Amino acid sequence: MAAMKNKRSSDTLGNWPLFLRHLYGNMAYNPHRISSRQPIGISPNPWVNALGWAVGLIVACGIVIINSETHTDWAPTILYITLLLMAANLFSINLVISVAVMCILLLTSIYVYNGGYHRWESTTGFFRCLTALSAITFLALRSKFAADTLRHNEAYLIGAQRLSRTGSVTFSGDSEEMSWSDELARIFEYPLGMEPTATMIMERTHPDDRYLATEVFAQAARHEPAIEVKHRLLMPDGRIKHIHMLASPQSVQKGRVEYLGAVMDVTAAKQAEEALFRAQTELAHVTRVTSLGELAASIAHEVNQPLTAITSSGEACRRWIDRSEPDLHEARLSLDRIISSACRASDVISRVRALSRKSDPVRTSESLDDIVSETLGLVQHELAHHKISPKVDLTITNVPINADRVQLQQVIINLLINACHAMDAVKVRDRVLHVRTRVENNEAVLEVTDHGSGIDPAVLPSLFTPFFTTKESGLGMGLSICRSIIDFHGGRMWVHSEVSHGTTFCFALPVLTVEASAPTAVTHTNV
Ligand code: ADP
Repeated sequence: MAAMKNKRSSDTLGNWPLFLRHLYGNMAYNPHRISSRQPIGISPNPWVNALGWAVGLIVACGIVIINSETHTDWAPTILYITLLLMAANLFSINLVISVAVMCILLLTSIYVYNGGYHRWESTTGFFRCLTALSAITFLALRSKFAADTLRHNEAYLIGAQRLSRTGSVTFSGDSEEMSWSDELARIFEYPLGMEPTATMIMERTHPDDRYLATEVFAQAARHEPAIEVKHRLLMPDGRIKHIHMLASPQSVQKGRVEYLGAVMDVTAAKQAEEALFRAQTELAHVTRVTSLGELAASIAHEVNQPLTAITSSGEACRRWIDRSEPDLHEARLSLDRIISSACRASDVISRVRALSRKSDPVRTSESLDDIVSETLGLVQHELAHHKISPKVDLTITNVPINADRVQLQQVIINLLINACHAMDAVKVRDRVLHVRTRVENNEAVLEVTDHGSGIDPAVLPSLFTPFFTTKESGLGMGLSICRSIIDFHGGRMWVHSEVSHGTTFCFALPVLTVEASAPTAVTHTNV
């Protein structure tokens, strides 16, 4: 970090007189000085133009005087060359060619007019001047062409930087020098002419992300081949910006490795991603509440069972106490049964509350088998209502996955309810639902197989598309949300189906490794 301090960026023409800078300005270019203030091919300052022309005029007068006194060939040639170089800087290529042709014609006419072809020295002098003039014309045109191309590219780059909100920066881990483009100054919201410093960068970096910025310079000091960082900026008015930088070593000067980086303001994309995430979370919540509505009978049954057990154990307890000789031991056993039934009821209620609650997903180490068993508990009445016999084969109880319990329950509920609907039309004895878990290629896999109507191969590709439904009262969001939840968990989801034979929906989630088992609160990932 100490490597960066306030320092003027190098400008090779920095100490030249203004008119000479202007005269030769096109031929030198500093790529780090990307400025949007200087339009292409137009001189930056009319006074500099006037000064250039005035100097040219003085040189011309001087040459005419010298020429009239000495009658040498080189004096007008120098005039023409000066004229040519000035034209090369000020005018378009066509005009420069015209000036060059005019100079050559003038040189030739003077040679002819003076009858120089009668004298051997004049003829050789004329050809020497002609060669010099032609060579300079060629070089001036080539450099003019290169400078024009460079300026056009610069203009495109400035345009691209503004449109894509990307700035460029040069820095080094070994020295204090750094520079940036106007667009980057705009992103950091500093005045355009201001020289960048480490303090300025740190001032704008979000306090929680400063260690990331420090690490960038540490990486540059270690001469790492590529540096990438994403961090937040905190503007003085409290706005947060997100930036993404990629930098790589560009040149080595005096043992100093200079990095050239592109810094993109990704705030808009980040905000869109966060808005999408919020919308998807809300949609997932709405569909979860909708499926809870569908499970209302099942849930009521789940709560009712322990309540019935509480009532009958309470009555039994009273009978044990009301005896002429109260049996306190039996009464205590009845009370224990009441307590455990009450706990069961409260358990169901808290599961339902968790499903109906609107909260940000939090992934922790979970057992897929536990989640499946708990979900089956919630839908068992629904299965019974549809006269479905579940065949459950859960074999991976001790295999951890990194999951948000509520979200996975939502996926499983959706698959089970769809299976119930698909088997409504088949004979009761065929209504078998297989729920299996296994580990395959370091992934925990859940398989839900029904023997229902199956899915037409023509609609299979649209199955996970939002709002695709074949049900009269269907919303068509269930499977699309299931897939985004599984994607969000770093897993994948797929389906096999045979018309009139049934359908198998599967999803696979990566098995959690020990070092990755810390809880992760997610704030900006889809779903
Ligand atoms: P919805 O249930 O509201 O229609 P889903 O996204 O859950 O929305 O399902 C989309 C469509 O996929 C269903 O309308 C149905 O046609 C088909 N589908 C889903 N699961 C099955 C299944 N197990 N068997 C047959 N078709 C199914």
